[in-house]
Amino acid sequence: MSVSSPVKRNIPVCEPTLSGNELKYVTECVTTNWISSAGKFTEIFEKDFASYCGVKHGIAVCNGNIALHLALEACGIGPEDEVIVPDFTMIACVNAILYTGAKPVLVDADEITWCINPDLIQEKITSKTKAIMPVHIYGHPCDMDKIHDLAKKNNLLIIEDSAEAHGALYKGKKCGSMSHVAAFSFYANKIITTGEGGMVITDNDEIAKKARELKNYAFTDKRFLSNEVGYNYRMTNIQAAIGTAQLEKIDFLVESRIRNALMYNKLLSHIDGIITPPCNIDVKNVYWMYGIIVTEKFGMRAEALREKLKNYGIETRAFFVPMHKQPVYNKPNHKFSNLPDTSGKFPVSSFLGENGFYLPSSSHLPEADILYIVEAIKQIKTTSEV
Ligand SMILES: *Cc1c(COP(=O)(O)O)cnc(C)c1O
Repeated sequence: MSVSSPVKRNIPVCEPTLSGNELKYVTECVTTNWISSAGKFTEIFEKDFASYCGVKHGIAVCNGNIALHLALEACGIGPEDEVIVPDFTMIACVNAILYTGAKPVLVDADEITWCINPDLIQEKITSKTKAIMPVHIYGHPCDMDKIHDLAKKNNLLIIEDSAEAHGALYKGKKCGSMSHVAAFSFYANKIITTGEGGMVITDNDEIAKKARELKNYAFTDKRFLSNEVGYNYRMTNIQAAIGTAQLEKIDFLVESRIRNALMYNKLLSHIDGIITPPCNIDVKNVYWMYGIIVTEKFGMRAEALREKLKNYGIETRAFFVPMHKQPVYNKPNHKFSNLPDTSGKFPVSSFLGENGFYLPSSSHLPEADILYIVEAIKQIKTTSEV
């Protein structure tokens, strides 16, 4: 590094913001002895989060991955079925489909939104297709109108992965409320967190009932009596206590993400070779993570820039590795005969995976840190040019 700036700061890529009633509510769980999934916070959190999203039912579970699995199972997805899923997403989506025995069918990303390209879905639909799983990538809503049209025309369910889109809007509608069933994650870096955690939300009474049964060993009214294979996917009261406190300030947390992103946008737009994240006019992007794309004009590849930012004490994270490139899906598997077909072409997804990464994105990220990060990027570019 020619500009040998000392490591002035240590800016993590993302931290939770736990400055509200989190400790108070967790303490209450401990002092009252309610630490399992039974307890008042689980119910409060489920009700309040469902109502925040504008739907009837919330079923709290222990993480986002199994929220997706539970949503799929509650819809009756199983062996012989196919589910359409974006190639550019987190591996949780494809794995959740694999657990059910159904076959994930990969679709390339859209150049503008980075989400699933709706224009490429129809050609992937077969007589076995049962559902589409749109994922609102990095907080930008998918093109839901087109996905709804396709679902209607082909009689498909929509299972929305809203893990990155708490509070995001598509044409005024909350992400998670535009489908038969949706899944959220409350992992520590998500817009609201419970440490580990997730939720299935739906307006459909039957899907809700099924999800609630399956998450609790499929016990019938009689405890210890099950008619099918269920799971223990329950969220603890302690996690829900943190979630309840987070939900009290969700508007602030969402708006903070947006404020950070708008500041990054403004400062980065002057730098050649950096593409800032998308925001269609009919959506509210909540910028779960602030992702950028580094093009040739910048003078170095994304990976090299990330390496240099590390010297400034700035932590970053590479974009998702596209699903078709995952080693696990590209070799024989004796347990899963339903692996996705990875042989197609996914140029947009590949481009994003190779050239994108995200900058520090905590809700409480100080403005001074954003200025410092942008200054570091400028310095790195200038020094690489001489
Ligand atoms: C975080 C995430 C998940 C998985 O959530 P976990 O709680 O980490 O299991 C699923 N899908 C997407 C798109 C995610 O970003």
